[in-house]
Amino acid sequence: MPLSRYWAEYAWRGTQAGADRGVLIEAEGDRFTAVTPEVDVPPPDAVRLSGLTLPGLANAHSHAFHRALRGRTHAGKGTFWTWRERMYALAERLTPDGYQALARATFAEMALAGISCVGEFHYLHHGPGGTRYDDPNEMSAALVEAAGAAGIRITLLDACYLTSTVDGAPLVGPQRRFGDGDASTWAARVGAFRPDAPHVRLGVALHSVRAVPADQIPDIAAWAREEEAPLHTHLSEQRAENVACLAHYHRTPTELLADADALGSRTTAVHATHLSDSDRALLGDSDTGVCFCPTTERDLADGIGPARALVDGGSALSLGTDSHAVIDLLEEARAVELDERLRDEQRGHFAAHELLCAATAAGHAALGWADAGVLAPGARADLVTVRLDTVRTAGFDPAETAAAVVFAATAADVSNVVVDGRPVVRDGQHILVDDVAHALAHTITAVWR
Ligand SMILES: [Zn+2]
Repeated sequence: MPLSRYWAEYAWRGTQAGADRGVLIEAEGDRFTAVTPEVDVPPPDAVRLSGLTLPGLANAHSHAFHRALRGRTHAGKGTFWTWRERMYALAERLTPDGYQALARATFAEMALAGISCVGEFHYLHHGPGGTRYDDPNEMSAALVEAAGAAGIRITLLDACYLTSTVDGAPLVGPQRRFGDGDASTWAARVGAFRPDAPHVRLGVALHSVRAVPADQIPDIAAWAREEEAPLHTHLSEQRAENVACLAHYHRTPTELLADADALGSRTTAVHATHLSDSDRALLGDSDTGVCFCPTTERDLADGIGPARALVDGGSALSLGTDSHAVIDLLEEARAVELDERLRDEQRGHFAAHELLCAATAAGHAALGWADAGVLAPGARADLVTVRLDTVRTAGFDPAETAAAVVFAATAADVSNVVVDGRPVVRDGQHILVDDVAHALAHTITAVWR
């Protein structure tokens, strides 16, 4: 197995508050074998990483095709409906080939931003009108292929999506591409997809209590339990979902999931924005994780979720770029803290290293890769280096490198990325995808043509 040696000027190893100076990182194949701080002089055979090196970042919530909506949903002033109508128009147009090309470019953008693993919450399953492709998992296969081509790992979260309203109205128009009829038909399709590649892991999703009737939720939860797979769901993203759920079921969305035995340590509730105190207790007491996507939540005017209270109650916090309004996990991380500051008119809810944990180890764990997200012997050999000599980061305090990166760096400052021991980004350039900006422009223009 190939051996690699890196010398990081600074490294945050994934557990401690601060960063170490002069860290020798050794890997064999896809695993770290040794991580040694206080190595003052870089060994001549080690690749020098200037800046702050972190474990790989995990993007715990993505809909790859939404990347084609960026900057295109603000016509007039842009309402929630402007966004949703454009999203449906886009969903109507995608073919498996177009989807794969778009996803490859989007995942390559993620790699450039330091993301080594994506949780793809996948609901665009079928052809126009809901017609199944010859291979009913062709769209899933396109996403898995795209992640491999972009050099990152993927947890494919195949989403069950059955109805258009909480009270069970059938899918209409482009939504018909999302639907499998019922949870057992969905489970049969999902069970037939068994990709054999080291960069992929399978999980499942229930789109939301709006799109999955309560009596179908236990089947999905049972599937996840039997497979010991991650289960993700959108939860209480907007108040309207809570209102409709209470009117129809006389339960909050969280209570509905609890009744269906869908909560637990392998479950991640995405957004978790509008929760009652008892909802929060149900999530925390069951060790259910939460994934915040602040740049999407602010783009869609969802609101600000109770991140600190959820974490204090026992929920692990991960982060996602969701609709890809931007793809920058450092921006998602700082937004968790900064949004709480705006709401409470008080600073100091999360320390920088807690936000880095959300962007690394907690995100990988939420996607079923518990062996990733730290720089330690035995862990997956993922590295991300953020430059400390750009106009955004220059002048940092060496005692506070983690804070400098969390509160001031952007995806544009990422210089080097290694995924499972394999270099994917070098000096800010993707090694496997030639010109990522061109690939994005080309595939997005083709979809809208
Ligand atoms: Zn989403």
